[in-house]
Amino acid sequence: MQLEPTSGYEGALLIDGAWVEGEGRQDVVHPYDGSRVGSIALAGREQVVEAIEAAERAQEAADLSAYERYELLSKTADRLEAELESVARLLTSEQGKPLSESKGEVDRAVQTLRLSAEEAKRQFGEYVPMDAQRGFSRDHCFTQHEPLGVVAAITPFNFPINLMVHKVGPALAAGNAVVGKPASNTPLVSLKLFEFLEEACREVGAPTGLVNVVTGSGSTTGDAILEHDAVEAISFTGSTAVGKYLANNSGMKELTLELGGNDPTIIWDDTDIEEAAAQVVGGACSNAGQVCNSVERVIVPEHIEGDVVEALVAAAEELTVGDPFDPETNVASMVDDDQFETVVDIFERTVEAGATVECGGNYGGDLGPRTFEPTVLSGVTPEMPAAKEEVFGPLVPVITVPDFDAAIEEANNTNYGLEAGIFTQDIDRGRRAANEIDAGGVNVNTVSGFRADHMPYGGFKDSGVGKEGIKYAVEHFSRQKLVGFHDGFNA
Ligand code: NAP
Repeated sequence: MQLEPTSGYEGALLIDGAWVEGEGRQDVVHPYDGSRVGSIALAGREQVVEAIEAAERAQEAADLSAYERYELLSKTADRLEAELESVARLLTSEQGKPLSESKGEVDRAVQTLRLSAEEAKRQFGEYVPMDAQRGFSRDHCFTQHEPLGVVAAITPFNFPINLMVHKVGPALAAGNAVVGKPASNTPLVSLKLFEFLEEACREVGAPTGLVNVVTGSGSTTGDAILEHDAVEAISFTGSTAVGKYLANNSGMKELTLELGGNDPTIIWDDTDIEEAAAQVVGGACSNAGQVCNSVERVIVPEHIEGDVVEALVAAAEELTVGDPFDPETNVASMVDDDQFETVVDIFERTVEAGATVECGGNYGGDLGPRTFEPTVLSGVTPEMPAAKEEVFGPLVPVITVPDFDAAIEEANNTNYGLEAGIFTQDIDRGRRAANEIDAGGVNVNTVSGFRADHMPYGGFKDSGVGKEGIKYAVEHFSRQKLVGFHDGFNA
């Protein structure tokens, strides 16, 4: 294992076009063995305010055409693509996901940037046929989109580069300035991204300060962002607890909240059980289960429980646990002690409550200090912790139901509503699931974890407010103005 060296910019804050020191420092460690990867600057409150005000000035001064915004984002995509290997290694170094998954995430970030670049050229307004109402047949009205101003982008640890691009790309495409705030345990790939964005800004002649990034305490940054009138929009991905805090304190700001989930996937008796089980285990264990829409509850009819459990165990036992830099590894460590201990606690309480460990169940020790084996649990009831709480770990809890009505009811038995999956060959069951499961997305014949970067993505209930997915995010980051031409002189 060789950690990826970090760049000279790694420890600094990007404010108004300059990389500056913070008010303190914090180490970033490799989750698999605790070795030091680098360090970040801790932004003070005044520095966050400086970043916001630099962004405000830059946005007011910027007069980038749609084509120039396209170029800015395309150049950033080209640079990221050219450095895909090293950025992926940096991502594995700080986040701990297997290197193959990191390469996949960086490749997605390149595509998300390119999709954003294209979207910059599609800010269409709409002609409003005024003669639809009596008395207005001589008026001409249309709409045009305008940027909001400053967009704050706050991201979590689990997809640190692609989720930052999901905010920054559409915000810049719509003509805004940005202040980014990555998670403190996985900030380094975001700093790389902003390094590339800043260079592209200079190449297209954007004013300094159009892109800024601050690292350090979430509450310091969050409160400075909440209190500053120049921030017109906050785009947040993270826990429901922090999301609710932002919602309760954001006043008139535009808010997009992509929050937690407890996503169900139904395996019905009319499907290929082995194929479904392999996808479910993959969907529950990728990134060591630290995925917002990972499969968190597997719902199956009672009469096929044995077959499904057997197939899930076979799929789970195929996975290799180990060093994330080893190409054979499928499941590596969790990001930090807090995440690991939370999963251990949920697992232990679920087993105490009567669930059966069908495979796995080992954690820590020789596996690595923050590593948990892929674990299939049967006999799980809806009240058990592994079914009731969001589990950010590689657990596969199986819940049985007597019939399809009960399957839908169980899928909805949660305060969350991010995504859902169902494996069935019966079109009516697929249709019922799509109509009756209360989630932001229902995927027929794949797992809840399905996501392409241009599709609308965002949860219902405690899973959030608003949608990401380039075009949909651009709508949140721009406002519509009505322009009217009236026949005032000849009326
Ligand atoms: P988190 O603890 O809520 O942190 C997310 C971000 O918020 C971090 O940058 C954090 O900074 C910052 N933060 C913390 N307190 C804040 C405050 N008071 N004001 C403003 N920002 C604050 O979440 P996490 O543990 O990193 O991520 C896991 C969660 O994200 C899970 O619940 C998962 O389901 C959710 N998630 C949702 C989606 C989705 O699309 N729906 C996608 C991925 C993840 P620090 O790191 O400095 O504390």
